[in-house]
Amino acid sequence: MLTLKTSSEFLQWRALVSPLESIGLVPTMGALHEGHLSLIRQSIKDCDISCVSVFINPLQFGVNEDLESYPQDIVGDLKKLKAIGVDVVFIPHANDIYDDDDSLLIVENNLSRKLEGKSRPTFFSGVLTIVSKLLNLVRPDFAYFGMKDAQQLIIIQKMVKEMKYPVQIIPCKTIREHNGLAMSSRNEYLNKEQRENAKIIYLSLFHARELINNGETNPSIIKAAIKDMVLSETTLTLDYISIAERETLVEITADVKTNNKTLILIAVFLNGVRLIDNIYI
Ligand code: AMP
Repeated sequence: MLTLKTSSEFLQWRALVSPLESIGLVPTMGALHEGHLSLIRQSIKDCDISCVSVFINPLQFGVNEDLESYPQDIVGDLKKLKAIGVDVVFIPHANDIYDDDDSLLIVENNLSRKLEGKSRPTFFSGVLTIVSKLLNLVRPDFAYFGMKDAQQLIIIQKMVKEMKYPVQIIPCKTIREHNGLAMSSRNEYLNKEQRENAKIIYLSLFHARELINNGETNPSIIKAAIKDMVLSETTLTLDYISIAERETLVEITADVKTNNKTLILIAVFLNGVRLIDNIYI
């Protein structure tokens, strides 16, 4: 496994890759768990060369967010990446990726303002800017993103389409703990009891899907059912529940249909930790 630490090292390596070999890219912020590893396994299956980036992207953290305390375990990450059979790991320093003034950003002005964007107004421009830079450096054929971050995935797909990046985005399904909680590096902030309490997030989404499959179509009733269930766990507070069209994130106000075009998204706080999840209907 090759470990590259600067953009120039990366570009030197990239120049030597044969155009006949396919490259897969899996961008991560490290503290790798089974969710990340599932994306990486998919890349290894699909591509001749798999490249994983490990970079805690400062640009996607708001001023009062957890940039300083974000979980890190580069030694553990490298062990996992080597064991799984990754070809190239890219671990750049922030100075190598960004100029001091941060004056150049990729901004999406519609989908980025909804849901996560309301609580985290600079988040998606941070994500799009780093993903754009990584796509330019790596020039992958395929790039892998988790459906756990559904809004992020949709916005990246939009960027790739509109900016004509010659890459295929591969969505990968959400990997969960045994109790249903979506895996996330931020779950490390939770103790055992809190992780157990947090399973209600997925259970409430699962319950909503059951309601819809059993004929409930009223979005207000479905949202109320999710809310009741989540708040029955008194340590949780809600940021949002959204029942939306899965490609546009437009809120569904008429009948909810079981036509594979609906997505329910949720964000909650548990002990100051923000957790998101979603379910496709
Ligand atoms: P992160 O390191 O949190 O930025 O995540 C890197 C990539 O892994 C993103 O595409 C995430 O959507 C994806 N990811 C994170 N958690 C999960 C999960 N539980 N299941 C599937 N993909 C995930």
